[in-house]
Amino acid sequence: MDFSTVDLTPGQQRFAEDVRGFLDETVTPEVHEHERLTGDGFNEGVHVALGSRGWLFPTWPVEEGGAGLDPVRRRILALELERCRVPHVTLSTTALAWNAVARFADPGLAAELRPGVAAGRVRFCLGYSDPEGGSDIAASHLRAARDGEEWVLDGAKMFTTGAHNCQYTFLIGRTDPEVPKHKGLTMFLAPLDLPGVEIQAIHTYGGERTNAVYYTGVRVPDRYRLGGVNEGWAVLHGPLDAEHGAGKEADGLTDVSPGRVFLREFERALDATVDWARKSVRSDGTRVADDPAFLDRLGRQIVELEAGVVTPGPMGRIKGSLALIEGAAELMDLVGPESLLAHGADGALAGGELDFAHRWAQGTAIYGGTIEVFRNIVAQHVLGLPRAVFPGSKALVR
Ligand SMILES: Cc1cc2nc3c(=O)[nH]c(=O)nc-3n(C[C@H](O)[C@H](O)[C@H](O)COP(=O)(O)OP(=O)(O)OC[C@H]3O[C@@H](n4cnc5c(N)ncnc54)[C@H](O)[C@@H]3O)c2cc1C
Repeated sequence: MDFSTVDLTPGQQRFAEDVRGFLDETVTPEVHEHERLTGDGFNEGVHVALGSRGWLFPTWPVEEGGAGLDPVRRRILALELERCRVPHVTLSTTALAWNAVARFADPGLAAELRPGVAAGRVRFCLGYSDPEGGSDIAASHLRAARDGEEWVLDGAKMFTTGAHNCQYTFLIGRTDPEVPKHKGLTMFLAPLDLPGVEIQAIHTYGGERTNAVYYTGVRVPDRYRLGGVNEGWAVLHGPLDAEHGAGKEADGLTDVSPGRVFLREFERALDATVDWARKSVRSDGTRVADDPAFLDRLGRQIVELEAGVVTPGPMGRIKGSLALIEGAAELMDLVGPESLLAHGADGALAGGELDFAHRWAQGTAIYGGTIEVFRNIVAQHVLGLPRAVFPGSKALVR
C-alpha cells in the first residue's frame, strides 16, 4: 500500500480553493437542515449547481457536460464534497445506473439523456429490491410482459430510494418466468411519470426517506429496454459490482475501503464526543477529557475507525459498517443520557449527532447488500471456499 502524500501543483491548489469557495456558498446550513428533516440524500439546488460546474460527472469532457478533471482534481473534488456533507444518494444512484445506460441503452436514448444527466435535471434511482426480499436480486418478481412495441409492468419494488426525486428507475423485471431465475430477467430505464406508477414514502428508523413503488399495468416503450431481452443479469452486473466496491480505479487516490462512506458519520460522532469531553466537568470537579478510562475507550474507537478506513474490498464494507454500529453505541455509553437527545431537542449534543449516528448506523448493514451477504462474498471470492448451501436450497433436495 502506498501511503505517500500527493504534492499539489499551484494549479491544483487554485482548483481546491475554487471548489471550497463554491461549496461553502452552495451547501448552506439550510441544505443540511433540509437533509436532516427529509432524509432524502438529495438537494435539488445543490445537485443542479454541481451540474452547472460539470462536477456531477467530473471526468467527462467539458463539451459533454463534465469538467474534464484529471485524477488528482477529481479526488480533490470528492474530498471537498465529503467535507461539506453534500447529500449524495441520488448523485451516486444516477452515476451507478448511467454506466449501464451508456453501455446498453439505445444510442439515441443515451444521447438524449446525457446532457440532462450531466446538468442534474435527469436523475436515476435503483429499482432492484422486491417486497419479498432484496438479497436475492435474481429472484425478482416484477412482471414485464411484451405487448407489441411496449412492455407492461405489474408488481412492486421496495426501498427504491430517491424515486420521488428521479425521472427514471433502473428497473429489473421478469420477462420469462419459465426459465432459471437468472435467465428470465430484463433491465429497463423506466420513466417514473408513466400512468400506473405510484410512489409511497417509507421513513426509516435511521432518518432516511426511501419508497415503495407500485407498478400497475405500466406501459413502457421498448426503447427504454437496456440490453437484450432476458439478458438483464449481464446489464446489472457492472452497477452491482461498482456498488459492492469492486473495480475501483487503481490510481492510488480513491478510498481503499468501500465502508469509508459509513465512517464519515462515525468521525462526526467522535468529534462531537471529544468536544463534549473537553467541556464536561464531573461532580468531583474533574474534566471527563482527563479521565484515563474514558480516553482508553475513546482511543479504541479511533483505532476501529482507522481499521475501517484501510480495510479493502468486501471486508472493508463489513468493517466500515460494524465499526460505525458498535462505535456509535460505545460513544453513547460514554456520553450518557445527553447523547439520546435527537436533532432539534433542547440540549442535543452537536445537533443530535450521536443519536443520528446510532440510528443511521443500523441501515448500513443492510443496503447495497447486507453484511451477511458480504460475508458470503468474502468466503467465496476472497477465501475461495465453496458456495454456501442453505436450508431449502435445491442442492439439498435429492
Ligand atoms: C434505507 C434503505 C435504502 C435502500 N435503498 C435501496 C434502493 O435504492 N434500491 C433497491 O433496490 N434496494 C434498496 N434497499 C434494499 C436493500 O438492498 C435490501 O434491504 C437488502 O438487499 C436486503 O434485502 P431484504 O431487506 O429484503 O432482506 P432479505 O434479503 O429478505 O434478507 C433477510 C435476512 O436474511 C439474510 N440473508 C439473505 N440472504 C442471505 C444469504 N445468501 N446468506 C446469508 N444471509 C442471508 C440477510 O442478511 C438478512 O439478515 C434499501 C434498503 C434500506 C434499508
